[in-house]
Amino acid sequence: MIKSEFSSVGRSVNERSLNADLVFIGGGIAGTCGAIAAAREGLKVILVQDRPVLGGNASSEVRLWILGATSSMGNNNRWSRESGVLSEILIENMYRNPDGNAIILDTILLEKVKEEPNLTLLLNTAVYEVVKSAPDVISQVIGFCSQNSTRYILSAPYFCDASGDGIVAFQAGAAFRMGAEAKDEFDEGFAPDKEYGELLGHSIYFFTKNAGRPITFTAPSYALKDVSSIVKYRSYEISEHGCKLWWLEYGGRLDTIHQTEEIKWELWKVIYGIWDHVKNSGKYPEAENLTLEWVGHIPGKRESRRFEGDYILSQKDVVEQREHPDAVSYGGWSLDLHPADGVFSDRPGCNQWHSKGVYQIPLRCMYSKNIKNLWLAGRIISASHVAFGSARVMATVSYSAQVLGLATQYCLKNGITPSNLANSEKVQELRLELMQRGHFIPGLEPQKTNLAHKAGLGASSEFRLTELIADGKWQKLEYSTAQLLPVAQGDQIKISFEIDAVESTNLTLQLRVSASAINYTPELILESRDMTVPVGKSKLNIDFDHTISEEQYVFVCILKNELVSIQTSNMFLSGTMMLMNRYNKAVATSGVQLPPDGIGIDSFEFWLPSRRPASQNLAFKLAEGLKPFKVSNLVNGFCRPTNAANAWVADLNDNNPNVILRWDEAVQIKRIVLFFDSDFDHPLESTLRVHPERVVPHTVRNYKIMDDEGKLIFEKAGNYQNVNEIILNQELSTSFIRIHLEHPANNVPAALFEVQIF
Ligand SMILES: Cc1cc2nc3c(=O)[nH]c(=O)nc-3n(C[C@H](O)[C@H](O)[C@H](O)COP(=O)(O)OP(=O)(O)OC[C@H]3O[C@@H](n4cnc5c(N)ncnc54)[C@H](O)[C@@H]3O)c2cc1C
Repeated sequence: MIKSEFSSVGRSVNERSLNADLVFIGGGIAGTCGAIAAAREGLKVILVQDRPVLGGNASSEVRLWILGATSSMGNNNRWSRESGVLSEILIENMYRNPDGNAIILDTILLEKVKEEPNLTLLLNTAVYEVVKSAPDVISQVIGFCSQNSTRYILSAPYFCDASGDGIVAFQAGAAFRMGAEAKDEFDEGFAPDKEYGELLGHSIYFFTKNAGRPITFTAPSYALKDVSSIVKYRSYEISEHGCKLWWLEYGGRLDTIHQTEEIKWELWKVIYGIWDHVKNSGKYPEAENLTLEWVGHIPGKRESRRFEGDYILSQKDVVEQREHPDAVSYGGWSLDLHPADGVFSDRPGCNQWHSKGVYQIPLRCMYSKNIKNLWLAGRIISASHVAFGSARVMATVSYSAQVLGLATQYCLKNGITPSNLANSEKVQELRLELMQRGHFIPGLEPQKTNLAHKAGLGASSEFRLTELIADGKWQKLEYSTAQLLPVAQGDQIKISFEIDAVESTNLTLQLRVSASAINYTPELILESRDMTVPVGKSKLNIDFDHTISEEQYVFVCILKNELVSIQTSNMFLSGTMMLMNRYNKAVATSGVQLPPDGIGIDSFEFWLPSRRPASQNLAFKLAEGLKPFKVSNLVNGFCRPTNAANAWVADLNDNNPNVILRWDEAVQIKRIVLFFDSDFDHPLESTLRVHPERVVPHTVRNYKIMDDEGKLIFEKAGNYQNVNEIILNQELSTSFIRIHLEHPANNVPAALFEVQIF
């Protein structure tokens, strides 16, 4: 028994002191992915999260789906899904949780963190104080866990503020901004005026379910009595849940930090008011059996402080896709701003403008310019209000945060600060080392340093692109349609395909490319052919004259004609797809982006693939086959399509696809890393969306690795991950390895992007 007498001086709570190399404050998706990546770099990491689960806005407490550069497949950023820890999590989530249950994602995030031996997780622990050893150096952060009544004193040479509102950066005194910049500060035509508002508001989501019997609802007294003031409520459909309710937004004219509780009450008031109206106005008889299953207890916060780094990302960086010597990350979501009055505004709930391709994010945006040892991650990175409108989404913030562990290693090893690193030549080494880990940096050429680069390569076959077989459905040319093909210098496109016309008509075919080889916006028409096609089925042969001048993707476009159908193929082939000039209403309003004059945004067409299971290729034949799937791609350093397909792909008729690596003398192998195709075009939304599959169809499931004596080194069945790292129990001495891969399916040839051997 504990019996404690009165203490006139009071008592102190339990206290624990912990040391680490790097402390992440905030376990949102950025902090979580950043902390895992840092722990995997061998750093001792502490992750402090004030709430009971990880994921921040992506967790089951808020239930947002994780999105990023793919922009829900709604813009031209092909193969732009973010790689690394986040990709591993999203692939795992689709495998375990194709129905998008946010609670399952919670378990995956917790599992991934708990599995890292270098990572200490403090849940339910709010950081509330910062201790500095000099005006520009943080030595400790202090947090309190209400669950175990313990005060934590966390010391480290480096800290990363990933707390959303920037509690550590703020308390440390770092320079920050809140609200929109004037147009002229960064020459941002899209900068909003005061009337539109300067901050994005918070949102709370709800879920409903059909109870199978009539359910009554009595609204709490704080519910809104008259929903007519909610303009956007008119477009509400009662089947909508969770992320579809993003427009339930409020607070953009308030202090989105200190008035958060007020904003939350207003959002609850609105939600219960809407539900009262749905259940009790008599206007929704179809809602009789519906009940409220879940209403968020905390709002998702969109915007508050943005801290200043050595560089502030702005609209022109995004739209012009400006290059930065210290680029370590990228974004691709639209510049997406919302009216500050949120749910009470009569303007569209969001205003989204896309760039023609992905844009770079420099390391100089990822630390405070004032505090020497403070990284920034999440929505608080150094960006203008307009650029924040794009860089804030969760896959983008995670991708940037994943860089910080290795960057901290560089700082520790070289005795330099983040600013020294970003502004010196050292950052080039960092960029190349990140690339080697499969971390894509647009526009950067990878280095070639592992043992695979010293090997002679061979393959049982190489897929020669002569044909995609005509086994798919007939698709009406309701939209202009294009087949995306990877071509090399000197190639010519002589293509034939089947069409079916309900009457004789004119059809236009075009060969197009993107003005920038790294983009997939087909704005340049190289050749255009008009032809008359007969009624019924016929075969079209088009020999384009143009000779390709550089390795790039071309678009073979067949312009819209609803009298004509084209035959499709069910084959999935790495680095190839069919696109249509249409739009995704979640992120655009027409097939052509048409911004108003003077806002500094480009006008261009969207060419989008269909989403699986609907996605197909054009069925076609090429008179001169293309050879983009060479075995040499296995060591070219790219782990996704760029201006080239970058994958080795086996011939589908090869019944024992395999590649060999041969060295002149025996090499010592400790680690093999294989990068498979996980279709980086396809966003793997974490929550709400139901995925039609558990495994990306392009991914090789079964493979084995043999040595020079034909002895099995490693075997894997049922793989579904993009990256497979094989750490050998014993160092292997061999002058030869062979990797046997099975085709993932009858319509999907085996593909591999990269082999690394250490
Ligand atoms: C309604 C809404 C819709 C959106 N739609 C999308 C979308 O569809 N897809 C998308 O990708 N993005 C979307 N966004 C944007 C995205 O959710 C945010 O920009 C992103 O979550 C920011 O990441 P973060 O890690 O900085 O912040 P958060 O996700 O908020 O994570 C910060 C974490 O820090 C923790 N924390 C805070 N203070 C402390 C402290 N003192 N001590 C310890 N921990 C602390 C918090 O609990 C939280 O878990 C949306 C945002 C909102 C609000």
